[in-house]
Amino acid sequence: MASAGHYVGLDVGGTTMKAAVVNDEGLPLSTPVVMATEPERGQDAGLETMCETIRRAVAAAKLTMTEITAIGVATPGLMDIKAGLILDPPNLKPWKNVPVRDHIQKAFGLPTVYQNDANAATYGEYWVGAGREARSMVMFTLGTGVGGGIILDDFIVEGEHSHGGELGHMRIESPAHGRLCGCGSRGCLEAYGSASSVVRRTREELATYRGPSKLKEYYTANDDVLTAKVIFQLASEGDALAMEIVDDTAYYLALGACALIATVDPEMIVFGGGMAVAESFRAKIHEYTTRFGLPHPVKKVKIAFAKLGSDAGFIGTGGAARLALRQGKV
Ligand SMILES: [Zn+2]
Repeated sequence: MASAGHYVGLDVGGTTMKAAVVNDEGLPLSTPVVMATEPERGQDAGLETMCETIRRAVAAAKLTMTEITAIGVATPGLMDIKAGLILDPPNLKPWKNVPVRDHIQKAFGLPTVYQNDANAATYGEYWVGAGREARSMVMFTLGTGVGGGIILDDFIVEGEHSHGGELGHMRIESPAHGRLCGCGSRGCLEAYGSASSVVRRTREELATYRGPSKLKEYYTANDDVLTAKVIFQLASEGDALAMEIVDDTAYYLALGACALIATVDPEMIVFGGGMAVAESFRAKIHEYTTRFGLPHPVKKVKIAFAKLGSDAGFIGTGGAARLALRQGKV
């Protein structure tokens, strides 16, 4: 039981892929190896880059392939997790129906586990990050979109059709009047709570805002360039408009948290991504969750920020391989 395992975690994104070997404690044995994904070069080239990234990660850990216990690989959806297939994800165009799990399994002759990248990152936080003491955890990752994942007692909720834990597409506003989401629907959490949506909502407010505002001054002085980081920074300095935006964002994210509390009643809810840094923002999400959530569980639920940053992806992917192996799923 205590024998030392070594798990490669390969996290494939639209721009780069990252891999490192992690041990049974979830510690990476090197800094991650990063290679360009270049999906436009085609899926055969993509599969070869994945194998090369794995080889380099093993070398970086000063191990040989025979010392590797299992391999985990995670990609963004759309995907068929059970079949081990990348279907046709928008950020890996023009790939289609790529048999990623079987390809890697054959290339190395090792147990290989396939997972959704957001689920894997959530598992990373659950295993060795913010949720390491929790038995059940939900995570929202706030970036270009809102990613998410649900882990219940060491079970990663993949769903029957590989769409479990797509928390960004929970509807928190009317499908008739809500903001338009990248998925084509209106009123999704992602259209309010992602870093990109926060910037978009702020631009709209700035167009009509009449009061004095440092945010407005910044916006004009920087040729209309704006980031969520700047908005959060100015909110912390007391700018009224920026504070209003941050407050609204906390409100919408809390509605998402409340829906999850009513669905799975997790021990902990974690928010990750560049906006999840200020304690005042965390406290506000907690306050709205307490106000609008089911009275009994909201008294107990812990709301925290992620700890592993972008490392959660490859750590959790290696962790998911270890988990599947321990649970006899591979
Ligand atoms: Zn959506």
